[in-house]
Amino acid sequence: MNLSQEDLKYIWHPCSQMKDYETLDPIIIKKGKGVWLYDLNDKKYLDIISSWWCNLFGHCNEKINSAIQNQLNALEHVIFANFSHEPAIRLCQELIKVLPKGLAKFNFSDNGSSSVECALKMSFQYHYQTGHPEKTDFMSLSDGYHGETIGALSVGGLDLYAKIYNPMLMRCKRIPAPDCYRCPYGKNRNCCNVECFVEAERAFQQYACKTCAIILEPLLQGSAGMRIYPAKYLAKLRVLCDTYNVLLIADEIATGFGRTGKMFACDHAEITPDIMCLSKGLTGGYMPMSITVTTQKIYDAFYDDYLKGKAFMHSHTYSGNPLGCSAALAVLQIFEDENILLKTKATADYITSTLTTAFIDHPNIGEIRHIGLIHAIELVKDKATKESFDSSMRVGYQIYKEALNLGLILRPLGDVIYFNPPLNITVEEIDIAVDLCQKAIHNGLKLTK
Ligand code: PLP
Repeated sequence: MNLSQEDLKYIWHPCSQMKDYETLDPIIIKKGKGVWLYDLNDKKYLDIISSWWCNLFGHCNEKINSAIQNQLNALEHVIFANFSHEPAIRLCQELIKVLPKGLAKFNFSDNGSSSVECALKMSFQYHYQTGHPEKTDFMSLSDGYHGETIGALSVGGLDLYAKIYNPMLMRCKRIPAPDCYRCPYGKNRNCCNVECFVEAERAFQQYACKTCAIILEPLLQGSAGMRIYPAKYLAKLRVLCDTYNVLLIADEIATGFGRTGKMFACDHAEITPDIMCLSKGLTGGYMPMSITVTTQKIYDAFYDDYLKGKAFMHSHTYSGNPLGCSAALAVLQIFEDENILLKTKATADYITSTLTTAFIDHPNIGEIRHIGLIHAIELVKDKATKESFDSSMRVGYQIYKEALNLGLILRPLGDVIYFNPPLNITVEEIDIAVDLCQKAIHNGLKLTK
């Protein structure tokens, strides 16, 4: 049986034009170990994108495997209303130790978008129940990404995912996001004084009176092309939110759990958001689980006699799944036992220097930017003017296909190639990835000429 053909007979793959599969079969993976994935013919692929940014400590990690196996023999799942279990309680106890101070209450869902929906509803209802029913709208940054359910799309800012659904979406005011590569204020990363923050100030003056929350990806707009902006922007936004009574929702789904070099991106700015969304790395990329974390103050606005009707009537069947909680507990244990955050600093420096050496003089590489282990390489038509390639050339996609041939999973965002590897990737594996990436870019660009 040809499994690729069988796959295409039945499966509608995520985020894909299925016609593309006519020239690129789905790759059937039979096993994984560390950064490596193996297909049916034993061809191996280096997963430098952590399987959509979620795999934190390699595939088939022994510690996480064993935590899930142990839990499986005790309890696979239980209704989470009125019932609870030790793994969920212990997970909250452990998360509180590493989360920004003041985050205290945990609402469980089962994927990133759902945790964003939960945060949006919570913000709206919080204001409704604290004397501000007029605060019904949201703000967000342009080019942001928060998932693909309707609420999450409404606050996202990428036309690629949202444009067609515009008539269905909620009201949201988008503030032009910092763009540090093509700074409209003529600054660069070394001389920036977050001049672009004036856009946020303007938007708050005009819209904050009817806004219940602003949501953003702290420091790293992942899907926008791994755009990185300064911590100072976030620190200033915290002050602005307090001034105007607008809740700050930090979507740490992609940035949480060490991805930016600190446990959470908010830690770079030393701020506590009112609500934080967690998923992906939360379970090491093993189980679909997310948590919307908030403060005691917000929780208290929902706490009253039942008949007052203030409860947060929000639920998911798999809320608080014990297998997910066990995986997440193992993840936190690995951070501690293996001193991960300290080690990733050296790994990040190694990736930076290796990529810089490989690409510094490349005529089509406009910028190599990085935060934590995440490194993005922006391909441009013209380095001097920063002009992008015509999107119809699908330069990134050509490079993606070349990389797959070579055994590297790159999956670019437009024409931005990036590394977002498991935090325990080795120096030898980085060398392999950089070498294959160089070849893939060379071959891919040749095909587009
Ligand atoms: N928010 C951010 C910042 C993300 O990067 C993603 C997914 O990539 C999501 C939300 C949505 O998460 P999920 O795909 O689990 O719904």
